Amino acid sequence: MFGTRERAHVLIDTYGRVATDLRVSLTDRCNLRCTYCMPEEGLQWLAKPDLLTDDEIVRLIDVAVTSLGIKEVRFTGGEPLLRPGLVGIVERAAALQPRPRLSLTTNGIGLKRTAAALKAAGLDRVNVSLDTLRPDVFKALTRRDRHQDVLDGLDAARAADLTPVKVNTVLMPGLNEDEAPDLLAWALEHGYELRFIEQMPLDAQHGWKREGMVTAGDILAALNTRFELTPEGAGERGSAPAERWLVNGGPQRVGVIASVTRPFCAACDRTRLTADGQIRTCLFAREETDLRGALRSGAPDEEIARIWRLAMWGKKAGSGLDDPSFLQPERPMSAIGG
Ligand code: SAM
Ligand code: SF4
Repeated sequence: MFGTRERAHVLIDTYGRVATDLRVSLTDRCNLRCTYCMPEEGLQWLAKPDLLTDDEIVRLIDVAVTSLGIKEVRFTGGEPLLRPGLVGIVERAAALQPRPRLSLTTNGIGLKRTAAALKAAGLDRVNVSLDTLRPDVFKALTRRDRHQDVLDGLDAARAADLTPVKVNTVLMPGLNEDEAPDLLAWALEHGYELRFIEQMPLDAQHGWKREGMVTAGDILAALNTRFELTPEGAGERGSAPAERWLVNGGPQRVGVIASVTRPFCAACDRTRLTADGQIRTCLFAREETDLRGALRSGAPDEEIARIWRLAMWGKKAGSGLDDPSFLQPERPMSAIGG
């Protein structure tokens, strides 16, 4: 597919997959405590000196865009809106050539205040996480009473034209598992694109259980009771993690990211950078490759690019979730960057 010359400028692995989508974690900290992600207390945060500085982050994005073929950059965390330099980082990333598409995954708290500035800085769109329409369930799920703040953040994102605004939802047994149709009706009404994400074994407290988890099959069965769903672009899922359906003939859609029951590893196009400068080839990888050390010891861009390419070359075929020997990675989702 690629000649030797082209290979030098892309992140290709031994299975022929090419990573063009970079997830950048800006912090491991958060102002919520979603039960599927973090414990109420006791999580060890990354030490400040270990975090990449704003300059270091922008430099790595620059290398990724100019030397490694990255076309999309998604800022995430932890909660990326907690990063003080976020607007400046977005602005500098938007000035890179070729300009990457820029998006942000956020819990929405604080978006009311920052949406317009982020748009002006060059952010293209946002994914906002919201699991429930019920304030009491929100409080139980996130351990914080901030439901209205998220709704306000969503409104602000739409008003600032950070569109399409996508909403990420994780359904949890016994808490919000019955809300799929209500959430979809609400998303259609507000013009948000809803995507359900299967709960994955990436929580800091290692509490995930396959038994009882709400699966893509459960979600689709629930949605089918109220909506007519037509698969969109059957057989064309490509590297998009979400399988998408047109709702009631379209044009609005709903997505399901079934990382556990319908994995899409063969088409994965992602590479990840943690807030402390480690490359991860996969959410479920147990190995990381250090870029911070190279950066801080004065390595030139070509050397950084070489280390990154080598790391991606070693990407495994799949997440290993179905393997009986599967072991959850040391780092939780909040520290990897979801
Ligand atoms: N704090 C931001 C947020 O919540 O959107 C960004 C980081 S969060 C780790 C990114 C996404 O991962 C969110 O949509 C969240 O719901 C999802 N997530 C977190 N833990 C998860 C888990 N164990 N399984 C599936 N999705 C998870
Ligand atoms: Fe925070 Fe996002 Fe994890 Fe919830 S899912 S605790 S909002 S990082």
